[in-house]
Amino acid sequence: MSDEATAAPTLIAPYGGRLVDLRVVPEEAARLVAEISGARKLHLTPRQACDLELLAVGALSPLDTFMGEEAYRSVLADMRLPSGLPWTIPITLTVRREDGIRVGESVVLLDPKNEPLAVMEVREAFERDPDEARIVMGTSNPSHPTVREMATWGERAISGPLRVMSIPHHYDFTDLRRTPAECREALGAMGRPDVVAFQTRNPMHRAHEELTKRAASRVGGSLLIHPAVGMTKPGDVDHFTRVRCYRAMVEEGYDPGTTLLSLLPMAMRMAGPKEAVWHAIIRRNYGANHFIVGRDHASPGKDSAGVPFYGPTDAQELLRSFQEELGVKMVPFEELVYVEEERRYVERSEVPEGATIRSISGTQVREDYLAKGREIPAWFTRPAVAEILRSVYRPRTQQGFCVWLTGLPSAGKSTIGEILGVMLLERGRSSTILDGDVVRQELSKGLGFSREDRLANNRRIGFVAQEIVRHGGTVVCPVVSPYEAGREEVREMVGRDHFILVYVDTPLAECERRDVKGMYARARRGEILGFTGIDDPYEVPARADVVVPTPALSPSEAARRVLDEIARRGFIEL
Ligand code: ADP
Ligand code: ADP
Repeated sequence: MSDEATAAPTLIAPYGGRLVDLRVVPEEAARLVAEISGARKLHLTPRQACDLELLAVGALSPLDTFMGEEAYRSVLADMRLPSGLPWTIPITLTVRREDGIRVGESVVLLDPKNEPLAVMEVREAFERDPDEARIVMGTSNPSHPTVREMATWGERAISGPLRVMSIPHHYDFTDLRRTPAECREALGAMGRPDVVAFQTRNPMHRAHEELTKRAASRVGGSLLIHPAVGMTKPGDVDHFTRVRCYRAMVEEGYDPGTTLLSLLPMAMRMAGPKEAVWHAIIRRNYGANHFIVGRDHASPGKDSAGVPFYGPTDAQELLRSFQEELGVKMVPFEELVYVEEERRYVERSEVPEGATIRSISGTQVREDYLAKGREIPAWFTRPAVAEILRSVYRPRTQQGFCVWLTGLPSAGKSTIGEILGVMLLERGRSSTILDGDVVRQELSKGLGFSREDRLANNRRIGFVAQEIVRHGGTVVCPVVSPYEAGREEVREMVGRDHFILVYVDTPLAECERRDVKGMYARARRGEILGFTGIDDPYEVPARADVVVPTPALSPSEAARRVLDEIARRGFIEL
């Protein structure tokens, strides 16, 4: 060790004593690439790629590969690794049975863009606990986003020695991305042994600024602002926008000698208390010995019945119970609110009697300010941050949305969709119509009418719709889409907030009487098999946003009803 290194203050040692580094030297990487040409390949999901990156650089030390069965079961049962060290979140590489991966073979792990990242020598393959979601998340309610996602994970997991040729490439904000070793070096250079870390997945406003500064001064150490930029909760502000906000805020408002902004490529689980403990462990590997936990840390909010998934202080309590063993002290914070008379932030329980308090939630920022094009007050956020948010979040009347019309063939979807398109043009909105019939001749040419093909057709339309909506366009999709699962999948893809499901509710007899293309007649004669409504199911939507009964409503009346819903959602002003 050089003199300089020994002169630097000693940051807390990594968890378990040693910083893992799974990256091989370039020569070995080149050799590995040659060696693996015939090996089985496994595509990592974005979440798995994040986990691999954290493992590779030692952010999950002492883990040096995805968990084997013993570690996995021990974490689920006792919140500990087999060595006894506390650990709350399973880090597994899940695979499907049909992937056919066998113990003894080497598997190449590819990133979602096909780039080989690592080689795992598979030493074990085991069944996941069917109860994993409930144990880790504390709920099996599918309104929890990770619980919902877990239903799509493979039922098995594999483990074995891991050699990493390359971590996933990132081309954005490269100056702010640091491995644990690089982060430790930068923190060490600040000259303080105590470091308090702050986790976030949201834009930071004045309240966050206050609480991070207070925490750092309470601890007397430097501050690591460490936002998660892997996966966060679906629907969160995208990380490009967030990082621009963090950077503006840090440059303007923080002491560069004691503050480090660094990005963490972590895929959050939104597991509340257990996640808080995991966050603290990770931050210890990056050099922090204090960790800020506020209310509802890493919580997805409320379940489908409106009940919060976790109590507001559950995360603080669980982390407190582990802090000695983790070597990371919890810095708790209550919600900070702005006291108007004193023009400052105080913890909610310390608000003087009779004082006027002001606070704005993240949802309110989006819905009451950005969506309506209103200026965010300066007491709430720095103007530089507000400006970035405003440039990205256009008012609702300039945002995109998707109207998805589902119903039996000849129910009237295309007719109503076409009228709706005209009504939107009349109100200054352009629109694309992705008609099921047209799509089937272009985008989905070659697909048939099996359940799989129908779902694939839905997904393709959903994919295009998602892109149109993301760029502020409006799209009308008249598609039979007979399956609830297919429609709900599109709702997720597009974003529920920008998706309007319209059920064109026309009795089968009426559809058959209209029989626009003579298809019912052919189906009845047995010339077409698997025709929706005749010998193929149509699942009536359980979650339609608008139901338009025809012929009770004329085509124009039906379109008008949809338009009212579009206006109610704020996308147009009537
Ligand atoms: P997550 O906890 O899911 O990462 P956030 O980015 O909203 O989501 O929160 C980061 C941290 O800041 C959490 O510990 C949270 O409890 C805390 N926090 C958020 N807003 C406030 C606030 N106004 N006052 C105090 N703590 C807050
Ligand atoms: P889909 O797109 O659902 O297969 P189309 O819109 O192509 O159905 O065909 C529906 C047919 O029914 C059209 O010829 C339309 O003029 C007729 N029709 C009659 N009454 C109505 C109504 N109230 N709403 C929609 N269409 C109607």
